[in-house]
Amino acid sequence: MSTEAYKIIDHTYDAVVVGAGGSGLRATMGIAESGLKTACITKVFPTRSHTVAAQGGIAASLGNNSPDHWTWHMYDTVKGSDWLGDQDAIEYMVREAPAAVYELEHAGVPFSRNEDGTIYQRPFGGHMQNMGAGPPVQRTAAAADRTGHAMLHALYQQSLKYDADFYVEYFAIDLIMENGECRGVIAICMEDGSIHRFRAHSVVLATGGYGRCYFSATSAHTCTGDGGGMVLRAGLPLQDMEFVQFHPTGIYGAGVLITEGARGEGGYLTNSEGERFMERYAPSAKDLASRDVVSRSMALEIREGRGVGKESDHIFLHLDHIDPKILAERLPGITETGKVFANVDLTRQPLPVVPTVHYNMGGIPCNYHGEVVTLKDCNPDAVVPGLFAVGEAACVSVHGANRLGSNSLIDLVVFGRATGHRISDIIKPGSAHKALPKDSADLALARLDHFRHAKGSTATAKIRLEMQRTMQKHAAVFRDDALMSEGVTKLQNVYRSMEDVQVSDRSLIWNTDLIETLELDNLISQASCTIQSALNRKESRGAHMHEDFPNRDDENWMKHTISWFDGWGGKGGTVTLDTRPVHDYTLSDEVEYIKPKARVY
Ligand SMILES: Cc1cc2nc3c(=O)[nH]c(=O)nc-3n(C[C@H](O)[C@H](O)[C@H](O)COP(=O)(O)OP(=O)(O)OC[C@H]3O[C@@H](n4cnc5c(N)ncnc54)[C@H](O)[C@@H]3O)c2cc1C
Repeated sequence: MSTEAYKIIDHTYDAVVVGAGGSGLRATMGIAESGLKTACITKVFPTRSHTVAAQGGIAASLGNNSPDHWTWHMYDTVKGSDWLGDQDAIEYMVREAPAAVYELEHAGVPFSRNEDGTIYQRPFGGHMQNMGAGPPVQRTAAAADRTGHAMLHALYQQSLKYDADFYVEYFAIDLIMENGECRGVIAICMEDGSIHRFRAHSVVLATGGYGRCYFSATSAHTCTGDGGGMVLRAGLPLQDMEFVQFHPTGIYGAGVLITEGARGEGGYLTNSEGERFMERYAPSAKDLASRDVVSRSMALEIREGRGVGKESDHIFLHLDHIDPKILAERLPGITETGKVFANVDLTRQPLPVVPTVHYNMGGIPCNYHGEVVTLKDCNPDAVVPGLFAVGEAACVSVHGANRLGSNSLIDLVVFGRATGHRISDIIKPGSAHKALPKDSADLALARLDHFRHAKGSTATAKIRLEMQRTMQKHAAVFRDDALMSEGVTKLQNVYRSMEDVQVSDRSLIWNTDLIETLELDNLISQASCTIQSALNRKESRGAHMHEDFPNRDDENWMKHTISWFDGWGGKGGTVTLDTRPVHDYTLSDEVEYIKPKARVY
């Protein structure tokens, strides 16, 4: 290895945030506001983070368009999670939610309005009144169908007001760990190839999801789970990786999302017989049942031969009965998306849609202060000093086995803010830094150098496609032991084929070949954790539908899966599994623990 050839530029900060999506920006603002010296590193320009694509809205019990209460939001989130969410964290999120939305309003988010000037809220799947009893509640605050766009721009503009340094188009490679403590992070500036070593008292991973380990996903190509990859390489586990959300309405073929807000505004699904089949599967919530339920119902209709189209392999979403004026006002973005990606005028024709990978419930385990936790000396809540995680990269866990629509945007800002508070509580501005260990850059540089000079015969894109196809087929909406076991073997072969990867660009200037290879390396380890955690969970819960074990089994499986990847260095992609208890207690005594029940909509 010739890592000495790399010139390293050193930086020292109180806190470094990796990621400038909704969660990373909110954390950066909070930390910088408290007077701590803060840096935010991001591989894409902040306003290009995937948060920009969020359409439907952000959930909070404001009660503007229908009666609502935070305990109702809590009930729906617990039920949505299929009782795998930690109820202390869920209570924290739903109680903080209204204040977080008003904070965004004051930060300049141009929310859609009701006639009386209050923020407009729409119905979303799984959100109900009266502790789940119904009718549906209007809880999702929206800026037309461009809520994430509005939020991200407002947060970025606000963050410039604070004294935080932005390192834009810098790719974080690996964490600097010393004796189980996080001491900083190593990144490469993609423009000129310089290597940057950030020494920090705390590092916040806000790197987003890893949807791109599947072939068809609504997420951006940049959603490669780099934070999760770094955590696995640091010898720490990830949590609940088997729970991958399929959004019911990705445009057939293109994978582009049509927001659940479309069904919130009255859209409905039909099969080849023109039947509104959701009435059979979820008699009460119908098309607004929770996402796992709707996706599964669609997949069943297709499997039983009632899909639409030449191949009978998709479903229709109807918006053609809605007043075009309402469509133009509340769903302008998807009207355009339908035209561009499906060549459909949705004021007249139905849209072809199919369940598409959308969100990762699993991620870096942490508590509701954003502190990363691990299983240590029999303590399932042992904090990893110096390391934090927020947003889709994290698993707090508020979404458990299935996230409700519009509960991610609220998660970003509530826990981004909480993480800022925690860090400013534990670090004093200007406190002294220990010297870093001599080998602090070795892990990152060895990996970089290894892939930069990889002389194999298989292109990165080919290995990536093989991984994506394997996940799409073997870890999909319906799963069984035989299918998943076959997938595990295939994925181990894909992992081994990384030894033969070919990177043809050896330069350090805008070497996308190299960056995509580092991303693929991050994706494969998480794909492995996903499929092996799924094979291990012998029950069906939330998004994990195991056909050999079609029922939820609270006695044996009401617990979080944690997974370590120890496949590095020729070990063939092996994964070690264990469990952590689900927090079966609330934060305050103002609400009781919500006991498990059958989950019907
Ligand atoms: C199409 C779409 C629509 C959605 N609509 C909604 C909705 O209406 N309501 C809702 O609640 N949720 C929605 N979601 C989910 C929600 O938008 C996401 O979960 C959320 O935006 C993720 O935010 P984040 O801050 O965790 O990460 P992201 O916004 O994904 O940002 C990740 C950041 O990390 C940086 N990064 C990653 N890796 C590295 C690295 N190695 N080095 C440096 N920087 C790095 C990136 O540059 C980026 O800034 C939607 C998701 C999609 C895909």
